[in-house]
Amino acid sequence: MALFQAMGNIGEPEEKKEITGEAEKVKVLIIGSGPAGYTAAIYAARANLSPVMYQGLEPGGQLTTTTEVENFPGYPEGVTGPVMMEDLKAQAERFGTDSRWGIISDVDLSQRPFKAIVDGTKLIEAEAIIIATGATAKYLGLESEEKFKGSGVSACATCDGFFYKGKDVAVVGGGDTAAEEAHYLSGLCNKVYLIIRKDYMRASKAMIERVEKTENIEILYEHVTKEITGGMGVEGVTLDNKGKEVKIKVDGFFVAIGHSPQSQLFSKWVDTDNEGYIKTIAGTSKTNVDGVFACGDVMDSTYKQAITAAGSGCKAALDAEKFLAAQM
Ligand code: NDP
Repeated sequence: MALFQAMGNIGEPEEKKEITGEAEKVKVLIIGSGPAGYTAAIYAARANLSPVMYQGLEPGGQLTTTTEVENFPGYPEGVTGPVMMEDLKAQAERFGTDSRWGIISDVDLSQRPFKAIVDGTKLIEAEAIIIATGATAKYLGLESEEKFKGSGVSACATCDGFFYKGKDVAVVGGGDTAAEEAHYLSGLCNKVYLIIRKDYMRASKAMIERVEKTENIEILYEHVTKEITGGMGVEGVTLDNKGKEVKIKVDGFFVAIGHSPQSQLFSKWVDTDNEGYIKTIAGTSKTNVDGVFACGDVMDSTYKQAITAAGSGCKAALDAEKFLAAQM
Protein backbone atom coordinates (compact mmCIF):
# COMPACT_ATOMS: atom_id res chain seq x y z
CA MET A 1 0.00 0.00 0.00
CA ALA A 2 2.88 2.36 -0.68
CA LEU A 3 0.55 4.40 -2.86
CA PHE A 4 -1.40 5.42 0.17
CA GLN A 5 1.39 6.84 2.17
CA ALA A 6 1.72 10.13 0.37
CA MET A 7 -0.04 13.17 1.72
CA GLY A 8 -0.58 16.49 0.04
CA ASN A 9 -2.79 18.62 -2.15
CA ILE A 10 -4.31 17.03 -5.20
CA GLY A 11 -1.50 15.57 -7.24
CA GLU A 12 1.23 17.03 -5.06
CA PRO A 13 2.42 14.50 -2.52
CA GLU A 14 4.15 16.24 0.34
CA GLU A 15 4.86 14.18 3.37
CA LYS A 16 4.53 10.51 4.35
CA LYS A 17 1.92 9.72 6.97
CA GLU A 18 0.83 6.43 8.40
CA ILE A 19 -2.62 5.13 7.52
CA THR A 20 -4.38 4.22 10.72
CA GLY A 21 -7.54 2.31 11.60
CA GLU A 22 -10.02 0.25 9.63
CA ALA A 23 -11.26 1.35 6.22
CA GLU A 24 -14.59 3.18 6.28
CA LYS A 25 -16.96 1.65 3.73
CA VAL A 26 -19.23 3.98 1.77
CA LYS A 27 -21.57 3.48 -1.17
CA VAL A 28 -20.87 6.74 -2.97
CA LEU A 29 -17.90 8.99 -2.36
CA ILE A 30 -18.18 12.49 -3.82
CA ILE A 31 -14.93 14.37 -4.19
CA GLY A 32 -15.35 18.13 -4.45
CA SER A 33 -17.97 20.58 -3.24
CA GLY A 34 -18.89 23.00 -6.02
CA PRO A 35 -22.29 23.11 -7.74
CA ALA A 36 -21.54 19.76 -9.44
CA GLY A 37 -20.59 17.98 -6.21
CA TYR A 38 -23.51 19.34 -4.20
CA THR A 39 -26.05 18.58 -6.92
CA ALA A 40 -24.69 15.04 -7.18
CA ALA A 41 -24.99 14.83 -3.38
CA ILE A 42 -28.61 16.02 -3.37
CA TYR A 43 -29.61 13.38 -5.93
CA ALA A 44 -27.53 10.60 -4.39
CA ALA A 45 -28.86 11.32 -0.89
CA ARG A 46 -32.45 11.34 -2.12
CA ALA A 47 -31.77 7.95 -3.73
CA ASN A 48 -30.75 6.59 -0.31
CA LEU A 49 -27.13 6.15 -1.30
CA SER A 50 -25.87 7.90 1.88
CA PRO A 51 -23.21 9.89 0.00
CA VAL A 52 -20.08 10.97 1.78
CA MET A 53 -18.56 14.16 0.40
CA TYR A 54 -15.10 15.52 0.96
CA GLN A 55 -15.12 19.25 0.39
CA GLY A 56 -11.50 19.66 -0.65
CA LEU A 57 -9.13 22.58 -0.42
CA GLU A 58 -11.70 25.22 -1.32
CA PRO A 59 -15.06 24.20 0.22
CA GLY A 60 -17.80 25.50 -2.05
CA GLY A 61 -15.47 25.72 -5.04
CA GLN A 62 -14.77 28.58 -7.40
CA LEU A 63 -18.07 30.34 -6.73
CA THR A 64 -16.98 31.19 -3.23
CA THR A 65 -14.48 33.62 -4.75
CA THR A 66 -17.06 35.51 -6.81
CA THR A 67 -19.35 38.19 -5.51
CA GLU A 68 -22.82 38.36 -7.03
CA VAL A 69 -24.23 35.43 -9.06
CA GLU A 70 -27.07 36.68 -11.26
CA ASN A 71 -27.35 33.94 -13.86
CA PHE A 72 -28.23 30.90 -11.75
CA PRO A 73 -31.94 30.16 -12.28
CA GLY A 74 -34.10 30.53 -9.21
CA TYR A 75 -32.50 33.64 -7.71
CA PRO A 76 -34.38 36.54 -9.32
CA GLU A 77 -32.55 39.10 -7.18
CA GLY A 78 -29.16 37.39 -7.56
CA VAL A 79 -27.21 35.81 -4.75
CA THR A 80 -23.62 35.92 -3.59
CA GLY A 81 -21.46 32.93 -4.50
CA PRO A 82 -20.79 31.95 -0.86
CA VAL A 83 -24.49 32.14 0.08
CA MET A 84 -25.47 30.04 -2.92
CA MET A 85 -22.95 27.40 -1.94
CA GLU A 86 -24.24 27.41 1.66
CA ASP A 87 -27.77 26.90 0.26
CA LEU A 88 -26.60 23.96 -1.86
CA LYS A 89 -24.76 22.47 1.11
CA ALA A 90 -27.82 22.80 3.37
CA GLN A 91 -30.00 21.18 0.72
CA ALA A 92 -27.57 18.27 0.30
CA GLU A 93 -27.32 17.79 4.08
CA ARG A 94 -31.08 17.96 4.53
CA PHE A 95 -31.35 14.66 2.67
CA GLY A 96 -28.52 13.01 4.56
CA THR A 97 -25.32 13.90 2.72
CA ASP A 98 -22.38 13.55 5.05
CA SER A 99 -20.26 16.51 3.94
CA ARG A 100 -16.88 16.67 5.58
CA TRP A 101 -13.84 18.88 5.75
CA GLY A 102 -10.84 17.15 4.28
CA ILE A 103 -8.81 16.57 1.17
CA ILE A 104 -8.62 13.34 -0.75
CA SER A 105 -4.88 12.96 -1.06
CA ASP A 106 -4.69 9.73 -3.05
CA VAL A 107 -6.89 7.19 -4.80
CA ASP A 108 -6.62 3.67 -6.14
CA LEU A 109 -9.22 3.07 -8.84
CA SER A 110 -7.75 -0.21 -10.08
CA GLN A 111 -10.58 -2.32 -8.63
CA ARG A 112 -13.75 -2.08 -6.60
CA PRO A 113 -14.22 -1.15 -3.89
CA PHE A 114 -12.20 1.90 -4.88
CA LYS A 115 -9.81 3.23 -2.28
CA ALA A 116 -9.33 6.82 -1.28
CA ILE A 117 -7.14 8.38 1.37
CA VAL A 118 -8.29 11.42 3.32
CA ASP A 119 -5.62 13.86 4.46
CA GLY A 120 -3.03 11.12 4.13
CA THR A 121 -4.29 9.19 7.12
CA LYS A 122 -7.80 7.77 6.73
CA LEU A 123 -8.76 5.01 4.30
CA ILE A 124 -12.15 4.97 2.61
CA GLU A 125 -13.51 2.16 0.45
CA ALA A 126 -16.21 3.27 -1.97
CA GLU A 127 -18.49 1.29 -4.26
CA ALA A 128 -18.75 4.28 -6.60
CA ILE A 129 -16.89 7.56 -6.87
CA ILE A 130 -18.10 10.87 -8.27
CA ILE A 131 -15.27 13.22 -9.19
CA ALA A 132 -16.36 16.86 -8.93
CA THR A 133 -13.04 18.54 -8.22
CA GLY A 134 -13.56 21.43 -10.65
CA ALA A 135 -10.98 23.63 -12.25
CA THR A 136 -9.05 26.65 -11.22
CA ALA A 137 -8.66 29.76 -13.32
CA LYS A 138 -5.08 30.64 -14.01
CA TYR A 139 -3.98 34.07 -12.85
CA LEU A 140 -0.97 36.17 -13.83
CA GLY A 141 0.53 35.96 -10.36
CA LEU A 142 0.87 39.71 -9.75
CA GLU A 143 0.58 41.09 -6.24
CA SER A 144 -1.76 43.85 -7.45
CA GLU A 145 -3.96 41.24 -9.15
CA GLU A 146 -4.36 39.44 -5.82
CA LYS A 147 -5.21 42.75 -4.09
CA PHE A 148 -8.10 43.54 -6.45
CA LYS A 149 -9.60 40.05 -6.76
CA GLY A 150 -13.33 40.53 -6.18
CA SER A 151 -13.07 44.33 -6.50
CA GLY A 152 -12.22 44.78 -10.16
CA VAL A 153 -10.19 41.70 -11.06
CA SER A 154 -12.19 38.71 -12.28
CA ALA A 155 -11.58 35.51 -14.18
CA CYS A 156 -15.15 35.20 -15.46
CA ALA A 157 -16.72 37.74 -17.82
CA THR A 158 -20.05 35.89 -17.93
CA CYS A 159 -20.25 36.07 -14.12
CA ASP A 160 -19.03 39.61 -13.51
CA GLY A 161 -19.22 41.48 -16.84
CA PHE A 162 -22.61 42.98 -16.04
CA PHE A 163 -21.09 45.08 -13.24
CA TYR A 164 -19.04 46.96 -15.84
CA LYS A 165 -21.92 47.99 -18.08
CA GLY A 166 -20.97 51.18 -19.95
CA LYS A 167 -17.46 51.18 -18.49
CA ASP A 168 -13.98 50.49 -19.88
CA VAL A 169 -12.39 47.13 -19.14
CA ALA A 170 -9.35 45.08 -20.11
CA VAL A 171 -9.08 41.37 -20.89
CA VAL A 172 -5.71 39.63 -20.80
CA GLY A 173 -5.04 36.53 -22.90
CA GLY A 174 -4.79 35.58 -26.55
CA GLY A 175 -6.72 32.30 -26.70
CA ASP A 176 -10.34 31.50 -27.51
CA THR A 177 -11.47 32.22 -23.96
CA ALA A 178 -9.98 35.72 -24.01
CA ALA A 179 -11.44 36.40 -27.45
CA GLU A 180 -14.87 35.18 -26.34
CA GLU A 181 -14.76 37.14 -23.10
CA ALA A 182 -13.64 40.30 -24.92
CA HIS A 183 -16.45 39.87 -27.42
CA TYR A 184 -19.01 39.24 -24.69
CA LEU A 185 -17.84 42.31 -22.76
CA SER A 186 -17.91 44.46 -25.91
CA GLY A 187 -21.69 44.07 -25.89
CA LEU A 188 -21.91 45.48 -22.36
CA CYS A 189 -19.00 47.83 -21.94
CA ASN A 190 -17.99 51.12 -23.50
CA LYS A 191 -14.53 49.89 -24.49
CA VAL A 192 -12.59 46.65 -24.17
CA TYR A 193 -8.80 46.44 -24.36
CA LEU A 194 -7.54 42.98 -25.29
CA ILE A 195 -4.02 42.58 -23.93
CA ILE A 196 -1.87 39.99 -25.71
CA ARG A 197 1.73 39.29 -24.81
CA LYS A 198 2.77 38.02 -28.25
CA ASP A 199 2.44 39.64 -31.68
CA TYR A 200 -0.32 37.19 -32.59
CA MET A 201 -3.37 35.56 -31.03
CA ARG A 202 -3.60 31.86 -30.35
CA ALA A 203 -7.40 31.91 -30.76
CA SER A 204 -9.18 30.34 -33.72
CA LYS A 205 -9.34 32.32 -36.97
CA ALA A 206 -13.07 32.91 -36.59
CA MET A 207 -12.64 34.36 -33.10
CA ILE A 208 -9.73 36.55 -34.15
CA GLU A 209 -11.80 37.94 -37.01
CA ARG A 210 -14.70 38.56 -34.69
CA VAL A 211 -12.69 40.59 -32.16
CA GLU A 212 -10.82 42.44 -34.90
CA LYS A 213 -14.11 43.48 -36.47
CA THR A 214 -15.65 44.68 -33.21
CA GLU A 215 -15.32 48.45 -33.08
CA ASN A 216 -15.05 48.91 -29.34
CA ILE A 217 -12.35 46.25 -28.88
CA GLU A 218 -8.80 47.57 -29.10
CA ILE A 219 -6.20 44.80 -29.41
CA LEU A 220 -2.87 45.57 -27.78
CA TYR A 221 -0.34 43.07 -29.16
CA GLU A 222 3.04 42.64 -27.47
CA HIS A 223 1.82 44.17 -24.24
CA VAL A 224 2.69 42.56 -20.93
CA THR A 225 0.73 43.42 -17.79
CA LYS A 226 3.01 44.82 -15.11
CA GLU A 227 0.60 46.17 -12.53
CA ILE A 228 -3.07 46.77 -11.86
CA THR A 229 -3.57 50.13 -10.20
CA GLY A 230 -6.35 51.74 -8.21
CA GLY A 231 -7.67 52.64 -4.78
CA MET A 232 -10.79 50.91 -3.50
CA GLY A 233 -11.21 49.27 -6.91
CA VAL A 234 -9.36 48.94 -10.19
CA GLU A 235 -8.64 52.22 -11.97
CA GLY A 236 -6.00 51.29 -14.51
CA VAL A 237 -3.34 48.91 -15.79
CA THR A 238 0.34 49.51 -16.40
CA LEU A 239 1.69 47.61 -19.39
CA ASP A 240 5.06 47.04 -20.96
CA ASN A 241 5.21 47.31 -24.74
CA LYS A 242 8.70 46.22 -25.82
CA GLY A 243 10.34 48.25 -23.05
CA LYS A 244 7.96 51.20 -23.25
CA GLU A 245 5.56 51.82 -20.35
CA VAL A 246 1.91 52.16 -21.37
CA LYS A 247 -0.92 53.06 -18.99
CA ILE A 248 -4.59 52.46 -19.72
CA LYS A 249 -7.60 53.50 -17.64
CA VAL A 250 -10.08 50.71 -16.90
CA ASP A 251 -12.59 49.83 -14.19
CA GLY A 252 -12.35 46.09 -14.63
CA PHE A 253 -9.58 43.64 -15.43
CA PHE A 254 -10.50 40.19 -16.71
CA VAL A 255 -7.94 37.40 -16.67
CA ALA A 256 -8.57 34.83 -19.43
CA ILE A 257 -5.35 32.89 -19.71
CA GLY A 258 -6.86 29.44 -19.27
CA HIS A 259 -8.13 27.05 -16.62
CA SER A 260 -6.53 24.02 -15.06
CA PRO A 261 -8.83 21.07 -14.38
CA GLN A 262 -8.08 19.48 -11.03
CA SER A 263 -7.69 15.98 -12.36
CA GLN A 264 -4.06 15.16 -11.52
CA LEU A 265 -5.01 12.77 -8.73
CA PHE A 266 -7.12 10.64 -11.07
CA SER A 267 -5.27 10.81 -14.37
CA LYS A 268 -3.37 7.62 -13.69
CA TRP A 269 -6.69 5.77 -13.80
CA VAL A 270 -9.20 7.74 -15.84
CA ASP A 271 -8.69 9.00 -19.38
CA THR A 272 -8.08 12.72 -19.75
CA ASP A 273 -7.68 14.92 -22.82
CA ASN A 274 -4.58 16.95 -23.73
CA GLU A 275 -5.60 19.72 -21.34
CA GLY A 276 -6.21 17.33 -18.45
CA TYR A 277 -10.03 17.38 -18.59
CA ILE A 278 -11.52 14.00 -17.65
CA LYS A 279 -13.09 12.29 -20.64
CA THR A 280 -16.63 11.04 -20.21
CA ILE A 281 -18.72 8.89 -22.52
CA ALA A 282 -20.78 11.31 -24.62
CA GLY A 283 -24.06 12.29 -22.97
CA THR A 284 -23.14 10.62 -19.66
CA SER A 285 -20.88 11.19 -16.68
CA LYS A 286 -19.20 7.77 -17.09
CA THR A 287 -15.42 7.63 -17.25
CA ASN A 288 -13.48 4.72 -18.70
CA VAL A 289 -13.47 3.14 -15.21
CA ASP A 290 -16.77 1.42 -14.39
CA GLY A 291 -18.18 2.98 -11.24
CA VAL A 292 -16.19 6.22 -11.50
CA PHE A 293 -18.13 9.25 -12.71
CA ALA A 294 -17.04 12.82 -13.41
CA CYS A 295 -19.04 16.03 -13.45
CA GLY A 296 -18.57 19.78 -13.53
CA ASP A 297 -15.55 21.77 -14.64
CA VAL A 298 -13.11 18.88 -14.22
CA MET A 299 -14.70 17.31 -17.32
CA ASP A 300 -16.11 20.39 -19.08
CA SER A 301 -13.70 22.50 -21.11
CA THR A 302 -16.47 24.28 -22.96
CA TYR A 303 -19.28 25.69 -20.83
CA LYS A 304 -17.76 26.03 -17.35
CA GLN A 305 -20.90 27.50 -15.81
CA ALA A 306 -22.38 26.81 -12.36
CA ILE A 307 -25.65 25.71 -13.90
CA THR A 308 -24.03 23.32 -16.39
CA ALA A 309 -21.89 21.92 -13.56
CA ALA A 310 -25.03 21.38 -11.47
CA GLY A 311 -26.72 19.61 -14.39
CA SER A 312 -23.79 17.29 -14.87
CA GLY A 313 -23.71 16.58 -11.11
CA CYS A 314 -27.31 15.40 -11.41
CA LYS A 315 -26.30 13.08 -14.26
CA ALA A 316 -23.41 11.68 -12.23
CA ALA A 317 -25.65 10.77 -9.30
CA LEU A 318 -28.23 9.14 -11.59
CA ASP A 319 -25.48 7.21 -13.40
CA ALA A 320 -24.01 6.09 -10.06
CA GLU A 321 -27.42 5.00 -8.80
CA LYS A 322 -28.00 2.90 -11.92
CA PHE A 323 -24.52 1.44 -11.70
CA LEU A 324 -24.94 0.40 -8.07
CA ALA A 325 -28.39 -1.06 -8.69
CA ALA A 326 -26.92 -3.24 -11.46
CA GLN A 327 -24.28 -4.63 -9.06
CA MET A 328 -26.87 -6.12 -6.69
P1 NDP B 1 -5.31 28.84 -24.09
O1 NDP B 1 -4.33 28.04 -23.36
O2 NDP B 1 -5.72 28.44 -25.46
O3 NDP B 1 -4.79 30.33 -24.22
C1 NDP B 1 -4.25 31.00 -23.14
C2 NDP B 1 -3.83 32.38 -23.61
O4 NDP B 1 -3.40 33.09 -22.45
C3 NDP B 1 -2.69 32.36 -24.61
O5 NDP B 1 -2.85 33.40 -25.54
C4 NDP B 1 -1.47 32.63 -23.72
O6 NDP B 1 -0.46 33.35 -24.36
C5 NDP B 1 -2.09 33.56 -22.70
N1 NDP B 1 -1.33 33.54 -21.47
C6 NDP B 1 -0.99 32.47 -20.71
N2 NDP B 1 -0.28 32.86 -19.63
C7 NDP B 1 -0.17 34.21 -19.74
C8 NDP B 1 0.45 35.20 -18.96
N3 NDP B 1 1.08 34.89 -17.84
N4 NDP B 1 0.38 36.48 -19.38
C9 NDP B 1 -0.27 36.82 -20.52
N5 NDP B 1 -0.88 35.93 -21.30
C10 NDP B 1 -0.84 34.63 -20.91
O7 NDP B 1 -6.56 28.94 -23.08
P2 NDP B 1 -8.08 29.25 -23.38
O8 NDP B 1 -8.76 29.26 -22.07
O9 NDP B 1 -8.24 30.43 -24.23
O10 NDP B 1 -8.58 27.98 -24.19
C11 NDP B 1 -8.43 26.67 -23.65
C12 NDP B 1 -8.97 25.66 -24.65
O11 NDP B 1 -10.39 25.78 -24.74
C13 NDP B 1 -8.43 25.90 -26.05
O12 NDP B 1 -8.27 24.69 -26.68
C14 NDP B 1 -9.53 26.67 -26.72
O13 NDP B 1 -9.53 26.54 -28.13
C15 NDP B 1 -10.76 26.08 -26.07
N6 NDP B 1 -11.86 27.02 -26.07
C16 NDP B 1 -12.77 26.92 -27.08
C17 NDP B 1 -13.80 27.79 -27.15
C18 NDP B 1 -14.75 27.64 -28.25
O14 NDP B 1 -14.52 26.81 -29.12
N7 NDP B 1 -15.81 28.39 -28.29
C19 NDP B 1 -14.00 28.86 -26.17
C20 NDP B 1 -12.97 28.90 -25.15
C21 NDP B 1 -11.95 27.99 -25.14
P3 NDP B 1 0.57 32.66 -25.37
O15 NDP B 1 -0.19 32.39 -26.62
O16 NDP B 1 1.60 33.72 -25.48
O17 NDP B 1 1.05 31.42 -24.68
